[in-house]
Amino acid sequence: MRSVWVLGDQLNPQSGVLADTNPAETRVLFVVSRAMLGQRAWHRQRLHVVLAGMQRMANQLVLDGYQADFRVADSMRAGVRGHLAEFGGQSVAVMEPADLRLRKTVERWPECNVRPNEQFLCSSAAFADWAGGRKSLRMEDFYRWQRSRLNILMDGAEPAGGQWNYDADNREPPPKDGRAWPAPAPYPLDEVDLEISSLIERCAPRACGAPWSGLWPTTPSQAADRLDRVVREVLPRFGPHEDAMLSGNWHLAHTALSSSMNLGLIAPAQVVGAAEAAYRNRSVPLASAEGFIRQVIGWREYVYGIAHLWGADYVRSNALDAHEPLPQAFEQPDTTEMACLRSVLQGVDERAYAHHIQRLMVLGNLGLVVGTEPTALNNWMRERFIDAADWVMAPNVIGMTLHADGGRMATKPYASGGAYISRMSDYCKGCRYDPKQRVGPNACPFSSLYWDFIAQHETRFKQNHRMTKQVAAAQRLTDLDGVRERAREVREGLRRGVI
Ligand code: SF4
Repeated sequence: MRSVWVLGDQLNPQSGVLADTNPAETRVLFVVSRAMLGQRAWHRQRLHVVLAGMQRMANQLVLDGYQADFRVADSMRAGVRGHLAEFGGQSVAVMEPADLRLRKTVERWPECNVRPNEQFLCSSAAFADWAGGRKSLRMEDFYRWQRSRLNILMDGAEPAGGQWNYDADNREPPPKDGRAWPAPAPYPLDEVDLEISSLIERCAPRACGAPWSGLWPTTPSQAADRLDRVVREVLPRFGPHEDAMLSGNWHLAHTALSSSMNLGLIAPAQVVGAAEAAYRNRSVPLASAEGFIRQVIGWREYVYGIAHLWGADYVRSNALDAHEPLPQAFEQPDTTEMACLRSVLQGVDERAYAHHIQRLMVLGNLGLVVGTEPTALNNWMRERFIDAADWVMAPNVIGMTLHADGGRMATKPYASGGAYISRMSDYCKGCRYDPKQRVGPNACPFSSLYWDFIAQHETRFKQNHRMTKQVAAAQRLTDLDGVRERAREVREGLRRGVI
């Protein structure tokens, strides 16, 4: 009998070290680490999706003839050692963790026989080969390389439709009828959910957020069912409003498949295969299929490769010397009068989710223009989002969102004032602040902070040709002193939870 250790983000028996195993000769270990549960203020649903996924996979493996050891231990290593002490053997086979720190740790443990990670179409080693010797690591170059070598959405050597990227078609403001996309239906709760909820309340004293509602898939079949729904109901209208935000609609045309992919419940090849098939049978337009496939084989695999290439220390980058604490509203969403921020944060509290443009242009944009300490925002996002992982968060938060790596990843900071949010959402209609004002008590905090941010980093941004227009515009402001004074008040108010 050999032992195989399955991690909480490797929840598919068809892949990794479990593929090709003989059930009668294999014992499968799952470890729930009390240290991990207790060390952070995890969102309950974030913990639940992982733990329920592990428990359901263990139950299914037993039905399939395996032996399963679902073990709660003081730490991961204690769980592995406890398993070997109880059942014998020198080591467990484990698929290389996607998590940066856990990978480094596990590779040093003699109890672990580490096998390559098979959950990405481009492994971290293949990404390093691609990156080797390049002056710049542009996502678009990586994406085209992936499309060509994997033969995805290609007509021979050419991209389908003759164009690689249809992003320019995907920036429309919110649709008039935000209910155009039906919400994903939750899965009924069962005994496993009750057990896991009780485990979380016992072992995760800092857990926060609304309890589990069954919204997120926890098995490969639920994830496949969700993918099926996405292809039928979401992808046909996926593209044009990708950057829009509506207060009454948390999902719009976002697929919300990221947690299923990041937990290994569904493979990226399965997801892009379904999207391409829908394009080929004409049920999904090319711009929508291409935009979605770019997110999966482009952006998602790119950040995985970048995270491993640049390593665990990348998360400590702080090129803009930002040291503000997280705004108080991130812990208490009801305290803020900023309608956009309150709506997004309440959504995170309710379902551990915000779509990418809410993350980038509301939460992240605020973090950027306030000058929030990068690790504070990175940790908060890791703890609260259903699809979080260290390899996801570091490039997205440190590089893309906060520009804390000084432009290594994104060529300019994604900062904006209230005008952008006003154009791309309906939040401002219900807000006590005015996105057109940047000075005075009714000024939109984003607008005051944005101009202050540009002025504060003027010397650095003048060197960046993509920022010279913004710097020149800030220099022309006749009320810049008032704007900077208002920005100081806003920062103070955000710290104290009165804005
Ligand atoms: Fe957000 Fe400013 Fe609009 Fe209020 S006015 S919703 S704070 S962007």
